[in-house]
Amino acid sequence: MTIQQVEFLIIGGGPGGTPTAMALAAAGKSVMLVEKGQGLGGTCLFEGCIPSKIFRESARRLRELRESGQFGLCLPTQDVTVNWSAVLERKRTILQQRGEAALHKTGQLPTLKTVFGSCSLLDPRSAVIESEIGERVEVHFEKAILSTGSVPFLPPIKGSDHPRVYDSESILNIDHIPKRLVIIGGGPIGVELGQVFKTFGSEVSILETASRILGPVDEELGSHLQQRMTDDGIDIQTNCKVRAIVTTGQGVFVEYNIEGGEEQHKIADTVLMVTGRRPNVNGLGLEKTGVQHDAHGITVNATLETTEAGIYAVGDVTGQPMFAHWATAQGLALARHLMGQPVKFPTTETNTAVIFSEPEIGIAGLTEQQAKQAGLNVQVARYDYKQDARAQIAGCADGLLKIIFDTDSRRVVGVHILVEGAGELMGEAALLIKSGIPIEAVAAAIHPHPTLTESFVMAARNVMSQQTKQANSAAKNP
Ligand SMILES: Cc1cc2nc3c(=O)[nH]c(=O)nc-3n(C[C@H](O)[C@H](O)[C@H](O)COP(=O)(O)OP(=O)(O)OC[C@H]3O[C@@H](n4cnc5c(N)ncnc54)[C@H](O)[C@@H]3O)c2cc1C
Repeated sequence: MTIQQVEFLIIGGGPGGTPTAMALAAAGKSVMLVEKGQGLGGTCLFEGCIPSKIFRESARRLRELRESGQFGLCLPTQDVTVNWSAVLERKRTILQQRGEAALHKTGQLPTLKTVFGSCSLLDPRSAVIESEIGERVEVHFEKAILSTGSVPFLPPIKGSDHPRVYDSESILNIDHIPKRLVIIGGGPIGVELGQVFKTFGSEVSILETASRILGPVDEELGSHLQQRMTDDGIDIQTNCKVRAIVTTGQGVFVEYNIEGGEEQHKIADTVLMVTGRRPNVNGLGLEKTGVQHDAHGITVNATLETTEAGIYAVGDVTGQPMFAHWATAQGLALARHLMGQPVKFPTTETNTAVIFSEPEIGIAGLTEQQAKQAGLNVQVARYDYKQDARAQIAGCADGLLKIIFDTDSRRVVGVHILVEGAGELMGEAALLIKSGIPIEAVAAAIHPHPTLTESFVMAARNVMSQQTKQANSAAKNP
């Protein structure tokens, strides 16, 4: 057993822990970053954002090839097949490159020591690491940051331990394209992977407990996507309670009830359970400290300090929202705070997210409903991509943009977009909200033509011209 002393101990090397460790070490602090997985990058790199988007990119290109006829291209699309092992190999290569790049970057910071092993707190100022080569290291720290992420939450459904039942992590290593895939859970991961496997040729059913898929998303956008998925041949059952997964010689039977109705079942060869994620606190030794947590995550205050002074937490382990960029934003703000710099911690009102569905959904700030619940007087500027030049050219004119603005301050408080490529528009949306830009300034900004970014300006101009019409008619008919 060796004993080491550091200023900062960071447990978990995902998008929360790694940038935090690097920011502190770049300022000369002595930092130890401990990661128990295969490399630096966390769920995002190895079991989340990146592998799922690699699958999605292959599916997107396949779909584009199939739709090439509408662009006047004559391709023998029936000859286009999926080489699944090549898709998996591409994923392996990208993950390896990104993992190595992360290690290289951290290795260049002389005061940052990265240790691979599992770390557990011994008391409020020390921890033990069981390293991957069997060594035990005891670490004494001045401050610790917990960034241990989250793990799949699987409700206790009978039969869910069968090898043909996958979770959001194991499905990313499946060695074949399923023929009949039943997905339990209509959240972002279920929707994303459902569409991906449908494009690859699987028969896909989604069973969702709530009355619609993608519950927290703007209702109009969510319903539009649900209709689009149904039109594309994905079977979506809502208000659905799954009771059991039964495996027989004929396949895997997923048994469920539609609210108030009789028992039904779907037959599958593969089941994917994507029923949410829970904060990962197992084996972290929290009981040896004053750090409190519940089912939602580790309790933190406005500066991300836990209920034990000197121990902080960032990212998924603190609960919702669970996004890689959110974990990083929290971690970087915390690093500045710990270095004594003035900082505004991120707030959910300025957060952004993308659901990588087909078409994508971009979310920034508040929905109309959330803004009203927060006591704001709001109005919605809308734009239908059916009229949009770039969307027509690109063959993706199915979509809608909604800008929510406060009618008193005129500031934009929310942007919600459904269109292919929405993800690339969310940077602008984030800046509008973060900088408190008024809707009039959006209408006056010059955006290049023909690009999807024009939609912001068009939506703002639409609402301005409606207001002018209303003011004119009020002046004529006082
Ligand atoms: C299928 C899927 C798709 C996703 N897609 C997106 C997306 O497109 N965009 C997006 O923003 N987010 C996405 N996410 C969510 C995103 O992956 C997480 O929000 C993000 O990884 C959280 O970062 P984190 O640092 O908090 O935790 P993690 O990335 O989970 O990292 C925690 C790390 O801590 C390590 N660890 C845990 N316990 C210990 C211990 N005791 N000792 C040492 N190390 C420990 C773990 O091995 C892990 O590497 C997706 C998630 C999934 C599952």
